[in-house]
Amino acid sequence: MSTSYVNGRYVPHGEATVHIEDRGFQFADSVYEVFAVQDGHVIDEDGHLKRLWHSLTELGIAEPMKQGPMKVVMRRLLSINRIRNGALYLQVSRGVAPRDFPAPQGLKPTLVMTVWRAKPFDGSAVKAGKVITMPDLRWKRCDIKTVQLLAGVLAKTEATKQGAVEAWLIDEAGNVTEGSSSNAWIVTADDQLITRHTDHAILGGITRQTLLKLAQEYGLKYIERAFSLSEAKAAKEAFTSSSTVMIRPVTQIDDDIIGDGEIGPFSRKAIELYGAYMKEHP
Ligand code: PMP
Repeated sequence: MSTSYVNGRYVPHGEATVHIEDRGFQFADSVYEVFAVQDGHVIDEDGHLKRLWHSLTELGIAEPMKQGPMKVVMRRLLSINRIRNGALYLQVSRGVAPRDFPAPQGLKPTLVMTVWRAKPFDGSAVKAGKVITMPDLRWKRCDIKTVQLLAGVLAKTEATKQGAVEAWLIDEAGNVTEGSSSNAWIVTADDQLITRHTDHAILGGITRQTLLKLAQEYGLKYIERAFSLSEAKAAKEAFTSSSTVMIRPVTQIDDDIIGDGEIGPFSRKAIELYGAYMKEHP
């Protein structure tokens, strides 16, 4: 059995528990991050920690510890579990208090971490998938990575039922915001690489951010702007990005085939650049 971390203790996974009056459990008053681990390196660790601090600050949840010691705990947990390839899940809730809506001041935040093993990313094994579309039913602060994930859970559950790999969420204007747990990308007929701009309507994905940096370094032009579902369906290529799945080419949206139904050159380049980036683990 693996070992997890709960508030300063390294405990067998089956005994890793938090109190029933934890505000994370009762109110989803809690934020999280998922870090990919490749060849023993935590990918984009600083970017994820920066976003975690953004989430904590926006909600006024106290930091459970400084970033330095947090990195030490993360490494220790990976090392105890002998994980060189996989992922680390980290959650910080506001803490434990008798159930009441107003968030009490001065609570001691709950910090938990779990890890799991996964195969290292292999660009040559990446498979394309289909996405379905669903209305975006989430709240208006999707830039904060909270555990309040029910809209995403329902959308992804429906996607899975329909044999799709992801659900792309559509806002009231008919634009694609993002996937239930990934960012959305398209390549238009005139070879423009497009992903939605970041604001409160989407999560600023760390993989998205790294891909934009890699595209720029490689000299690949991109535009950060909203795009409609009809634009996405007419695209030459589409793909998703996230820390756990990395890059997933999309060759079908609902019943419409994207491009020629094969993984296109932009998607292949993104897979190649991101794969190389993780090997270099800068
Ligand atoms: N959007 C949402 C809603 C997500 O849950 C995720 C995955 N955490 C992403 C985008 C991708 O973010 P990242 O690249 O940081 O994993």
